[in-house]
Amino acid sequence: MTTKTETLNFNADVSRLLDIVANALYTNHDVFLRELISNAADACDRLRYDAIAKPDLTKDNPDFRIHIYKEENTRTLTVIDNGIGMNHDELVENLGTIAKSGTAALMEQMKDEKDPLKLIGQFGVGFYASYMVADKVTVVSRKAGDKQAWVWESDGRTGFTIREATKDETKTLDGERGTAITLHIKDEGCEFLIDEKVKQTIETYSDHIDIKIFQNTPADTGKGEGKPINSASAIWMRSKNEITPEQYTEFYKHISHGFDEPLMTSHWRAEGKIEFNALLFIPTMRPWDLYDPGRKNTMRLYVRRVFISDDLEGLTYPWLRFVRGVIDSADLPLNISRESLQFNPVINKIRSSMTRRILSDLDKLSRDDPPAFFTFWGQFGPAIKEGLYDAAEHREALFKICRFFSTHDEGDKFVSLENYVSRMKEDQKDIYYISGENMNMLKNSPQIEGFKSRGLEVLFLTDTIDDFWLQQVHDFQGKTFKSVTKGDIDLADDQADENEEKDTDDSNCGKLIEELKTLLREDIEDVRISKRLTDSPVCLVAPESGVDMHMERVLKVHQKYQGNIKPVLEINTGHMLIKKLAELAEKDPANDDMKEAGLLLLDQARIIQGQPLSNPAAFAQRMASFMERGLG
Ligand code: ADP
Ligand code: MG
Repeated sequence: MTTKTETLNFNADVSRLLDIVANALYTNHDVFLRELISNAADACDRLRYDAIAKPDLTKDNPDFRIHIYKEENTRTLTVIDNGIGMNHDELVENLGTIAKSGTAALMEQMKDEKDPLKLIGQFGVGFYASYMVADKVTVVSRKAGDKQAWVWESDGRTGFTIREATKDETKTLDGERGTAITLHIKDEGCEFLIDEKVKQTIETYSDHIDIKIFQNTPADTGKGEGKPINSASAIWMRSKNEITPEQYTEFYKHISHGFDEPLMTSHWRAEGKIEFNALLFIPTMRPWDLYDPGRKNTMRLYVRRVFISDDLEGLTYPWLRFVRGVIDSADLPLNISRESLQFNPVINKIRSSMTRRILSDLDKLSRDDPPAFFTFWGQFGPAIKEGLYDAAEHREALFKICRFFSTHDEGDKFVSLENYVSRMKEDQKDIYYISGENMNMLKNSPQIEGFKSRGLEVLFLTDTIDDFWLQQVHDFQGKTFKSVTKGDIDLADDQADENEEKDTDDSNCGKLIEELKTLLREDIEDVRISKRLTDSPVCLVAPESGVDMHMERVLKVHQKYQGNIKPVLEINTGHMLIKKLAELAEKDPANDDMKEAGLLLLDQARIIQGQPLSNPAAFAQRMASFMERGLG
């Protein structure tokens, strides 16, 4: 028999990854074993599922298992599974390219990452971790049901070869199907030629895998079954008090590929109308692709311990896409396609019940472990807030866990809405907020001056998502969300007490307002006397009928909004500058200074708000000429 050997190149992304794997000064080599075993277990899971419809696929051996053999003379370690296997095209595709969305973005991120392997693991290109310990990898594989087996081989540099397997090579496989991966161990990986090291590593990383793993001895020894080195029981089916925190962490790492610890672990059995076991984790670190639109749900769905899918749409809400874990239900049919499963009403019920549980566990975490909750909110808050408009049925529970910065804590401590409401002023009706990208800018916004001086709390909303949910959600416990940069907020009437002594004389400003209106009519909808300013001379606000100004900008960026609303200019009649201008307007409205000052004031208001100036050069000139006169 002559077999043709094809030589193919890795695609560019793989090459760059391999470069990182090979060059990373990384001490934790163990990871490769975790990745290979996790792939082997996945392959078994997938065949177990396919065999429900086609039992012939496993007729050579209905049991699934993994073997690990060490060969001293050749310095090799081989991981063998009798899972689904790969055919020629799958070997080329799966081990030669990265077919994942967001690859480019990941590469970009890797450049600046001190420990790029952290990201590799999360990205799930685990197979290439083999090259941390091996300088050559040989993969023999036969897809279940196929006649032909194939050999893929590569030194992990530029490319790989692929050819038909010889009879002898096929013997490496366990029965008629599956994959055998042989690592030619290099010096950096020599500890993995020590049996005890391999055993320990598997115990650490893979004990919970529900497929038996055998080391150096075949599963069938001729004298009955050999002894697996893992306990091979599905951890999520076991009772909570049998499981140590370390075991939970291992399992988390197995399913998340993460290097972090779980921030929160929820393990429960739902009983009643619908029954399922759930073991869910919230990561400590935000996954790199949390905001990548291509990111899929990552919850693993099992039906009576048979793995069904890890990207079933509808199993979780998109805004809980960072939650990792396993759902195992006996209420779903096994013999149904993954596609139609998506529309099964049981899935909806599982989602509702699971969501309620996660949200109530998070609420509990906020009370039991505030620092952990603080971390959680910092990492995942913006994603959670998507739920406010996406899932009205969970809104109440979501509001319980939502946190905001506010004027009351100088913007460095989170407050909950309940907190806000509990310290509202007696006659305060609304929940005040200001939104923008930049916390520092918000803290110093002229629009909040009046609120601060009256002791009214204003929430700082700095996530883009805030402008979206606020369009849908109008109140919390009957208190309306009200933007402080919009409409004519009548603080003076609300809180008539404190600022009485302030020297304002609104009656003198009629002429000034008239002049400014004419002068700025191209850019400004109206000019009026402000009740929200205390220190600054002017500010811009959105008209009552319009969209909040920051929201308008955000919506435009997202092409959700076309309009062009002119803002309202508010003037502070208590400010010296405005007083002087008012006098000037009375005496000599045609004066050039009048016009220049009006234009300057508008630009100043824009700058404070972080808005672009229509003519920065003109602004600079005007400013310089005023300064010159001021100094001279
Ligand atoms: P991931 O497991 O996240 O997809 P990997 O780099 O670990 O990424 O593996 C790439 C792909 O190669 C897998 O998705 C799978 O299709 C295939 N693969 C790897 N190992 C095996 C195996 N032992 N049996 C069958 N397919 C495998
Ligand atoms: Mg993998």
